[in-house]
Amino acid sequence: MVEETIFTKIINREIPADIVYEDDHALAFKDINPQAPVHLLIIPKKAIATINDIEEEDAGLVGHLYLVASKLAVQFGFAKDGYRCVMNCNEHGGQSVYHIHLHLLAGKPLGWPPY
Ligand code: C5P
Repeated sequence: MVEETIFTKIINREIPADIVYEDDHALAFKDINPQAPVHLLIIPKKAIATINDIEEEDAGLVGHLYLVASKLAVQFGFAKDGYRCVMNCNEHGGQSVYHIHLHLLAGKPLGWPPY
């Protein structure tokens, strides 16, 4: 049993979020603490705690998050300029919410590497 996080509450509309996309399997909303001019989070509706917990049967779902990212890039108009998708894992990865989520960052040239 996966522990419920704040993202399950967002999916269930128990707490507010600025939702920009939803389908049967995924939800995307604006990060409340943006780290770039555009900072969206794309999450599966299925609660998976970390990348380490992704199972074979979730492969399509995780791929779907990237398809949503590319749709949003077109919708928000930054597909051509470019953007970054990041999924953090556990403490050293900087994960703070234990429900996997794809950060979609855009709107300016982004620095690299992130040390
Ligand atoms: O990768 P990490 O787990 O640190 O990312 C969690 C993200 O969730 C943070 O960028 C944080 O700002 C965001 N967040 C949010 N809305 C909440 C709680 C967290 O956008 N209610």
